[in-house]
Amino acid sequence: MQAFTYTANPARIIVGPGSLARVADEIRQLGCSRALVLSTPFQREQAEQLNRALGELGAGVFSKAAMHTPVEVTQQAMVIFTEVGADCVVALGGGSTIGLGKAIAYRNDTPQIVVATTYAGSEVTPILGQTEKGMKTTLKDASILPEVVIYDAELTLGLPVAMSVTSGLNAIAHAVEGLYAKERNPITALMALEGIRGLKDALPALVERPDNVEARNNALYGAWLCGTVLGTVGMALHHKLCHMLGGSFGLPHAETHAIMLPHTAAYNALAAADVLAPAAALFNGELGGGLYDFAKSLGAPVALKELGLVEADLDRAADLAVQNPYWNPQPVERDAIRALLQRAWGGLRPE
Ligand code: NAD
Repeated sequence: MQAFTYTANPARIIVGPGSLARVADEIRQLGCSRALVLSTPFQREQAEQLNRALGELGAGVFSKAAMHTPVEVTQQAMVIFTEVGADCVVALGGGSTIGLGKAIAYRNDTPQIVVATTYAGSEVTPILGQTEKGMKTTLKDASILPEVVIYDAELTLGLPVAMSVTSGLNAIAHAVEGLYAKERNPITALMALEGIRGLKDALPALVERPDNVEARNNALYGAWLCGTVLGTVGMALHHKLCHMLGGSFGLPHAETHAIMLPHTAAYNALAAADVLAPAAALFNGELGGGLYDFAKSLGAPVALKELGLVEADLDRAADLAVQNPYWNPQPVERDAIRALLQRAWGGLRPE
């Protein structure tokens, strides 16, 4: 075994259908009494219901959370937070809503409870990506990490199947990159493999029957583990490419991860086959091709052109991909990345 350093992020994790009912107790346990409930416009009704159920502990709803955490939205939320006399936030939603809660906590250190309703994993990371005047910056700070995370599968029954699938593949991508991360260690490897296994079993079951609460619960369990890996070790080529495609070409977060994962896994299997072998075994012994077949069987998009990227952009994307590269097990070479992007654009199975 290699020598290693493992730093765990503190977390209180509550898993189970119906656990939304625990929010009130968790607010009190944090020593708080006025929670501002956060959501996107799409989940406003769910947030309103929670605020009503909280009674005196509910200070109101702010439902303008948006993708990539725009700073002007955070500033509006900070004004409301003060106006209603809030002393904590409850973020109900996926990465966009969680990002808003984190952005508030980064500014005023308020305690955060997250009720996570996608599989993106942001709830267990001390990382915040925010945008101002079109520029995205990423911060890491202890104040950003939510104190309490609740995974209630009943709230994910309304997550459309297509989003469930791409979000689940987004989670698997954290774990795959965690397996070969420079800071990997035996604990993150255990979490990564168990997270991949959980989602690999849960996603086909929930595609078959979207109201399968057990499959939804298992998917959240897998997402928690994969997200924890994301929050503990550094990410590599896969996340670099997805951030570049999202930031410079406006491609959607989860779908981009879903399409790129088989290709980046195949690329890095060239240098990290040993540490990826247990994950490859879950996908017929071939991680890249196996993940591609898996994604296709679930009805996920497999081609960047399906997301609106035009072929003429691939050269610029390859140039951007090799600028300020993240650490990666396989050397990041422009021609190889250009070829990878071409296959991902056309929706071909990775070589
Ligand atoms: P999202 O939060 O943007 O959600 C997409 C849409 O689905 C929203 O309208 C949301 O309200 C809706 N939705 C969410 N859960 C639902 C449910 N159960 N039922 C019905 N509708 C639901 O999507 P996401 O993929 O979770 O998050 C993406 C964002 O999170 C990106 O901005 C990404 O950069 C960020 N992110 C950050 C980290 C981190 O560690 N900082 C990690 C992962 C993702």
